[in-house]
Order: sequence, then structure tokens, then C-alpha cells
Amino acid sequence: MKYLSQSEYIGKYMDYLGFAKTERRSYAESVRLLEAEGFKEISKFKTLKPGDKVYRGYGERTIMAAVIGKEKISESGLKIVGGHTDAPRLDLKPKPVYEKGGCVYFDCHIYGGIKKYQWLTLPLALYGTVVRKDGSRVEVAVGDGKDDPVFMISDLLPHLGRDLEKKPMAEFFPAEDLDVVCWTTGEEKKERQAFVDFLKKKYKVEEDDLLSAELEIVPAGMPRFVGFDKSLIAGYGHDDRVCSFAGLQALLDASGGTPRRTASILMCDKEEIGSMGNTGMQSSFFENTVAEMIERQEKNARDIMVRRALEKSSMLSADVTAIADPHFPDVDSTGNSAKFHKGPCASKYTGGTSKGGASDCSPEFVAEIRKIMDEGGVTWQMAELGRMEKGGGGTISQYMARFGMDVLDMGTGLWNMHAPWELASVVDCYETYKAYSAYLRS
Ligand code: MN
Ligand code: MN
Repeated sequence: MKYLSQSEYIGKYMDYLGFAKTERRSYAESVRLLEAEGFKEISKFKTLKPGDKVYRGYGERTIMAAVIGKEKISESGLKIVGGHTDAPRLDLKPKPVYEKGGCVYFDCHIYGGIKKYQWLTLPLALYGTVVRKDGSRVEVAVGDGKDDPVFMISDLLPHLGRDLEKKPMAEFFPAEDLDVVCWTTGEEKKERQAFVDFLKKKYKVEEDDLLSAELEIVPAGMPRFVGFDKSLIAGYGHDDRVCSFAGLQALLDASGGTPRRTASILMCDKEEIGSMGNTGMQSSFFENTVAEMIERQEKNARDIMVRRALEKSSMLSADVTAIADPHFPDVDSTGNSAKFHKGPCASKYTGGTSKGGASDCSPEFVAEIRKIMDEGGVTWQMAELGRMEKGGGGTISQYMARFGMDVLDMGTGLWNMHAPWELASVVDCYETYKAYSAYLRS
């Protein structure tokens, strides 16, 4: 099996990660890469034949793409690599602009599970979309351009921090104070208006237009290698762009031939807040997309064909897991913790102490994946998220398994998961891509 070289793949991934700071930007970049490889939007197909390369997007945030196989989808289902492209961050509130003590701030709302203190005193960027009443849109991207300013949440100096130091982590910095400073040069009481005037001049938006906006505060800066050996990558949003992009590249690889079963990927939205909403995996997007594909393969397409196809499908749930950190040994699962540089981690189940909320994969499917990984020359490991009674986590696997398909969690391990800068191993990123590529071409 042929793969991209490690340096070629890592170069592509770091370019994507630096650009795709939001789910919408990930979507746009994915469509660009798919179309460059000959993939077309599904409405452009009257029928779907083996070898056709198709995608369907939703809300400009969630996308499914496929290379149509020799066997019909209703006969043998799909092979799926499914990840998510949203990442923990701060969203601007609908009425974000306020003035306090002569400074203008953006009022922010937490998106996803963050440790609040990690977001203080960091250079931050602002990305997103403002939609005016007439439907016209303004794209905002400030903080990563060469001459761009950045934004920041201030923290108290240690000299005056005695009272703060005594508070527990959850309390010492209230969520309501996670607000970025964005304007300080006017006169007190007039600052707010000066800032609103600036927005109007620069972006041609009224303050009310911010009511219909999706603006995100994310870390400013590009992915960087870490350590003298450059064996790790610090990046914002590895969770879960590291797996989503690996799936995308694996599908692009698969598009050179015609697989037996249809090979597909999902890069979905809203995983970090429970997969809710019309772009999350608890929506009907996935089923509807499979139905759209079957309708283009069958003369007399019926609903039962979709159900059968979903049940016959199988999936690698492409999401990150935790790598054991030597500084925190008391959360490691004895002998079952993931290590850096040993490839993507398969997790038979997620969940917490009781496996609560887990999709526990069948040993039959695990055996199938072991064989595929061996045949593809993939380095991989089997691991749990962490020690029992210390917490737990979940992925989209449970929402896919309910259709009856086999689902195994398999993705890259991280340090600093959900921190502004997460750490992944170069080897693990590359082996994750190889794993998905081997699976989609098996
Ligand atoms: Mn994730
Ligand atoms: Mn996550």
C-alpha cells in the first residue's frame, strides 16, 4: 500500500491546521482540497457509478465525502472514517461589546470543555462570520496576519494575587470574566461608541449585525514543532482536526482507485458540545446523505435500503485520546495508557468508570481492524482514556453505532487536550493517516 511520505503529510497537516481555526474554515479548506482532486457536490450527479467522487455539505460546517465502491451501498454499506472539526474556544456573545473602566471588551461565552486559566494572558485571534439582515456576509479574520493585532484576557499580577491564590481552580477566574480586551484608546464613556464606529467603518456592519454572527476567539499563531528533536507538534485544535484531516487525506488517497465498498469520511461540527444542532451528529445529516447517495444508485430506492445500508456499514470513530503524562501518573490506567510515538490509539470503549455512555466495540470488529492495520504496515496501540474513577470522555461513536454498524474509536493521542495549544506526536499524526488510509482502501 502506498502512502504519502511522513514529511509530505506533516507539511500538509500543519498548513491545514494553521488555516482551519474554525469549523467553517475547515469546511472551506476541505471542499477546496476535495474539488482539486475531482470530487463534486452531490446535486451535480443524476446517478452515482463506481469510482465517482462525491461530497455533500451542510451549514458550511459539516461535510461527508465518498468514493463510490464497486458494490452498491444498499448491498454492503459504507466504510466511514468520522471525526469532528469544531474545537474548544470562546464564542462572542450576541451582544458582545461593553465598556468597563475605560476599556472596551468582547463579552465571551465558553464553547466546549476548557480549563479557564489556560486562556489567560495569551495572544488570541478573532475569526468568524457576520450576517447582515439582507443575507450578505462579512468574513472576519484578525490575529494571524503579519500586521494584525491580537486580543487578550488579562490576569492579576502575582504581587496582588494573595486572595486569588487561595481559591480552587474552578472559582478563581469566573467564566463571565473570560472577556478579551479589544479597544483602549478613547476617553472614558466615549470608548464604546468609538469602537462601534470603528467596526462600522472597517467592516461595514452595524452593532445590531453582531446579533446574527458566529465569531470565535481562538489562539493566535501557527502550529510549531516542539523539542530539539521536533518530535511533537503544538497546535490549536488538534482535537479533532488531527483525525479529521487524516481521514480527508486518506480519502483523497483512496480516490485513485475504486474500492469494493464505498469509502467515506465525515468531518462534523458541534462534537464538543454534545453533537447537538443541525450540523452535529445527532442530526439527520448523515442518514439523509446516505439516502441521497442510494437514491442515485437505485431505480426503486426505498427507505429500507437506507436502513440496511446503515446497518451493514462500519466505522472508525476518528477522535483523539489522552497520552499518559509522566507528571500526572495518578490518572494513568495501569498498563492500558497510550504512549507517544506508538501510533493512533484504538479504544474498544470510551465512557467513564462504568463505561457509561460508551459504544463498546465488538471483538469481531476489533479483530478485523487488527488485520487491516497489520496488512497496511501501520504502527498502532490499544488504550483507555485513563484510570477509573478519575473522569471519562466520549466521541461520536455512540451516535453512529445506534444505526447498527460496527464502530471502533481510533485516533491520535494528545497531551494538553482542550488547552489552547495541544501536543501531538509527528509519528502518531502520520500513523493515524496511514491507519485511515489502510482502512478506507481495505
Ligand atoms: Mn474530540
Ligand atoms: Mn474534545
